Amino acid sequence: MSRLAVILLGPPGAGKGTQGRQLSSEFGYPSISTGDILREAVRNQTDLGKEARQHMDKGGLVPDGLVDAIVRDRLTRADCRRGFILDGYPRTVNQAEFLRREYAGEGMQFLAIGVQVRDEVLVKRLTGRRSCPQCGRIYHVDTSPSRKGDCCEECDSALIQRKDDTVEVVRERLQVYHQSTRPLIQYYRDSGAYAEIPGEGSVEDIYRSLRSVVQEQIAGRSS
Ligand code: AMP
Repeated sequence: MSRLAVILLGPPGAGKGTQGRQLSSEFGYPSISTGDILREAVRNQTDLGKEARQHMDKGGLVPDGLVDAIVRDRLTRADCRRGFILDGYPRTVNQAEFLRREYAGEGMQFLAIGVQVRDEVLVKRLTGRRSCPQCGRIYHVDTSPSRKGDCCEECDSALIQRKDDTVEVVRERLQVYHQSTRPLIQYYRDSGAYAEIPGEGSVEDIYRSLRSVVQEQIAGRSS
């Protein structure tokens, strides 16, 4: 059976985490977020976490070598054999090249999906975002607040605001996105494995577009 790697490309706040999880539960591929892995390392105060934190708190990128090593380690696990969904990786052309080399000649199909959202919408989304540190569920203070106020509806944990979701850090993250990550759109366009979906509607509408792009790819692949 052929294998599929879905790359969710899009600025911070585009909804890659939410959409990736939904895709994962429907299609059975694990959804892997380098941001989540790095935040866990920061929480556990590992050497990686201490190094990563210096970059993350300021909205910059963690050096390619560190992130590439994390991804290599994660992708060798058994649950990735059939394929996987990447949320937040690659973020630079060097990372994309690393990923390509890792799977050269392995029969892995790549599909990069760009989620389109305007900067002003992203700023509102990110600065109002709250998340559950326990189960990962994401809320928004205006558009999708928890029915339990400051606690998670699913597991009752106290919701948190990410340190990098403040206005200043969000602006920096967007700048980094435009400078380092946006060029990946051309990179994947050139490789013929790029699709774009609108990212400003409801979570359900966005998911419908995403799902149909993935289904098309799977159908085209097996025919
Ligand atoms: P995210 O949760 O994807 O928005 O990532 C949060 C932060 O983790 C980013 O602002 C970066 O500092 C760091 N990070 C996550 N993924 C990567 C990556 N692929 N390359 C470099 N830094 C990353």
